[in-house]
Amino acid sequence: MSYKVDYHMHSYYSDGTMKPTDLVRMYKEKEYDIIALTDHDGVDGISEAVIAGEALKIKVIPGIEFSTGYDFDERELELHLLGYHIDIENQPLRERLKEIRKDRDVRNEKLLAYLNGLGYELTREDLLQRPGQTYVGKPNFARAIARKGYEIENLWEVLDTVKKDKISIFKAMELIKGAGGMSVLAHPMKTKKLAELRSDAFWDALERILRDLKKHGLKGLECFHPSATEEDSLRLVNLAGKYHLHITEGSDFHGE
Ligand SMILES: [Zn+2]
Ligand SMILES: [Zn+2]
Repeated sequence: MSYKVDYHMHSYYSDGTMKPTDLVRMYKEKEYDIIALTDHDGVDGISEAVIAGEALKIKVIPGIEFSTGYDFDERELELHLLGYHIDIENQPLRERLKEIRKDRDVRNEKLLAYLNGLGYELTREDLLQRPGQTYVGKPNFARAIARKGYEIENLWEVLDTVKKDKISIFKAMELIKGAGGMSVLAHPMKTKKLAELRSDAFWDALERILRDLKKHGLKGLECFHPSATEEDSLRLVNLAGKYHLHITEGSDFHGE
């Protein structure tokens, strides 16, 4: 028997738009069997999603997505790392997430000041979409800018001007493992600074990265994701097989 699964999605506890319960209900209505909630740098939506899953009879796996740094050929790549089956009460994990949240707040203040300096009148309140929101990411900036009626050319480049400190991928894998979970490399085709490479150079680079991460405990590769063409997915599946990695599938859903 085959299951209908989606191992990658975001709720309004990170940069998605939906409440975890509504997200779970939507997947149930679409007849999914197993889903994983993988909010960025946080687990605040997990308890609600798991309870909703129990009530609605759909399996919800506690997950997370870290934005990590990885030194590769004298540059730092940003790799996204998914963690599954994590114990969200794990203390080292929770403490590190608090620090990451602080780094994000620092980045947001600087980015806000930068945008104000460019003449865009945005306030901290403009970035919030609901009461009690604690996570503010670049999509929140993008939505606030759109709501104010501003049009910024190269919007995402502008939003990338102010960088935040990133956790190393090895540290993130260690945290996931420490919390009883497994690490999966997310959407390789979306990796900035790699995706621009010529095809053969890209695949060579990716294989070197996978070999290295596998040595450090990587357990899976997200082979099916909207960023991968059918042909890409086939190559990713081959690579996963070569390095004995689980093959996962995720939509990276952020809300309608
Ligand atoms: Zn990602
Ligand atoms: Zn994601």
